[in-house]
Amino acid sequence: MSVTPTSHPVPSAPLAPIDTRAVHAGREDLTDLGVHALPIDLSTTSPLPGVEAGGDAYERLAGGAPPLPGQTPVYARLWNGTVARFESGLAALEGAEAAVAFASGMAAMSAVLLALPPDRRHVVAVRPLYGGTDHLLTTGLLGTTVTYASVEDVPSALTDATGLVVLETPANPTLELVDIRAVVDAIAATGREVPLLVDNTFATPVLQNPLAHGASLVLHSATKFIGGHGDALGGVVATDEATAERIRPVRAITGGILHPWAAYLLHRGLATLPVRVRAQQASATAVAAALRSHPAVARVWHPSLPECDPQGLIGRQQSGPGAILAFELSGGFGSAAAVAEHVELITHAVSLGGVDSLIQHPAALTHRPCPPDARPGAGILRLSVGLEDAGDILGDLEKALASA
Ligand SMILES: *Cc1c(COP(=O)(O)O)cnc(C)c1O
Repeated sequence: MSVTPTSHPVPSAPLAPIDTRAVHAGREDLTDLGVHALPIDLSTTSPLPGVEAGGDAYERLAGGAPPLPGQTPVYARLWNGTVARFESGLAALEGAEAAVAFASGMAAMSAVLLALPPDRRHVVAVRPLYGGTDHLLTTGLLGTTVTYASVEDVPSALTDATGLVVLETPANPTLELVDIRAVVDAIAATGREVPLLVDNTFATPVLQNPLAHGASLVLHSATKFIGGHGDALGGVVATDEATAERIRPVRAITGGILHPWAAYLLHRGLATLPVRVRAQQASATAVAAALRSHPAVARVWHPSLPECDPQGLIGRQQSGPGAILAFELSGGFGSAAAVAEHVELITHAVSLGGVDSLIQHPAALTHRPCPPDARPGAGILRLSVGLEDAGDILGDLEKALASA
C-alpha cells in the first residue's frame, strides 16, 4: 500500500471546532496506513500500471481533476500526495471544497489570474494590497487589466470583461478592514456574476473564513502564519472544486506546484496555527495599546483599537484582531529607520506570521513596487508580533524608540 494516497476527499460531516480540525485535517487515513507523522512522497515520477491506465491518469490530471482512488499521480508537476494532504487540511480550515497549493503566494495569485477566461481578464481591485499583488496587477504582466476602486466604487468599476474582484482584509500594511459580505452583495446587486477573491493571509482561517461571507476564492501566502516558522515558502487558494479544476491545469502547465517538503512543513504548521494565532494576537493587542500612548508614536493601526474597526467587523466577520500591527513615528522616515535598525530581540526583516517578531518599513520594502500614491507613509513601520513574552517585545520597542 502506498503511504501517500493520491486523493483526500474533504469530509462532508459538520465541521469540528477549528482546533480539532487544525490537528487532524488531512490526516484521516494515517492510522489505517500504520503511520503517525505525515508521510512525505518526494517522487518526481510514479510507476505507471500500463500505457492505457497511465494515459488515462495523465489526461484526468492535466484536465484539473484529482486522481481517482488508486490512480497513479503520473508526474509530480501534475499531482503530489503530500501536497494534496496539505491542501485537504487547509480546505478543511477554510470550509472549502478544495484547495490548490503553490510554490509561493505569488504563484497562487498568478495562477488565479492565468485561469481567468480569455474574455474576462479585467480585474477590479481594492487597495491597499500586498506590494507584489499590486505590482502584478498594475503591470498587467499576465495579460490582465486592472481598475483600482474603493469599496464603494467596486460595482461601477465592473464591466462585461471583469473576471475577478480582489481585496485584502485586514489589508497590508495598515490593517484596513473590508466588509466582505457588503462587497459580495454590491457585486450581486449589479446583476453580474463576478467572483471575489479575498487574500486572507493576515487573518488566517483561525480568525476569518471569507467563503462563509460569500467570497468565491481565498488566497493565503502560506509562507506567513500557516507555516509559522519562517522556513517554507508556499501559497494556497481555497475554493469550490469546479474553480479548483480550472486552476490546477495552470499549475500543471506553469509548474508553480508546492514542493512536498514545504507541503509537509506547512501542513505541520496547521496543527499549531490556532494556538499560535491566539497567543500572538493577545501580545499584539497589548503592544498596540502601549504604543498608542508612547510620545514618539503618532498613530497605531491594529483592529483591536476602536478607531481601526469603525464598521464593527471584529466579532462579526473576523473573530479577533490578529497579530500584525502598524505604527507611525512622529519623527517620520528618520525615526522609523532608527527604530527598525535599533531593535535587538525583534528582527528587522520582511515577512510576517512567524513565531518570532519581525519589523519592517513597508514603503521602502514590501510596498516599494507600488506607485507613490498607493505606498504607505514614510514614517510607518509594520510589526508582526511573535510568541515572545509581550513585555519583552514592548521593552525592545521602547529601547529602540528612545533612539528615534
Ligand atoms: C507575503 C504575502 C503575499 C505573497 O506571498 P509569497 O508567499 O511571498 O509569494 C501575498 N499576500 C500577502 C498579504 C502577503 O503578506
